[in-house]
Amino acid sequence: VTGGRPQPVRGPDSDFFWRAAAQGRLVAQLCQSCGQIRHPPQPMCPHCRSFDWSERTLSGRGTIYSYTIHEHPPLPGMQLPVHIALVELAEKIRMVGQLVDVPAGRHPRIGDQCTVRFLSMGETSLPVWTIDALGPVPPGSSETS
Ligand SMILES: [Zn+2]
Repeated sequence: VTGGRPQPVRGPDSDFFWRAAAQGRLVAQLCQSCGQIRHPPQPMCPHCRSFDWSERTLSGRGTIYSYTIHEHPPLPGMQLPVHIALVELAEKIRMVGQLVDVPAGRHPRIGDQCTVRFLSMGETSLPVWTIDALGPVPPGSSETS
């Protein structure tokens, strides 16, 4: 449910990202000079300072590098709590996104594998993440999964 949820902010640097998301593709910039994939979108390569880049479609798979659980304050159009993850993609870049469909009574864990999904937002779609394989249970944890 995305009713009332604010639209993503788009600018000249990030428009390609949202255009691809509208088609259900997760993309990042690929530097034409040094070959590094980078995110978030920016005009200049932070590695080699080149302005030449092309769009690269990503695997849409990654692991949870870190996460937080937002319980307060209320967010427009969203039901709390909201899980926000920093996902390390297979391509070795990191993206911030919402984790959806987290099983009740279970917290995400660093190392959990996740896959991108796209929530329709009208003009574009928002990449969100679902956990598809559980990471290792930390030593001493009483949690069962
Ligand atoms: Zn570069």
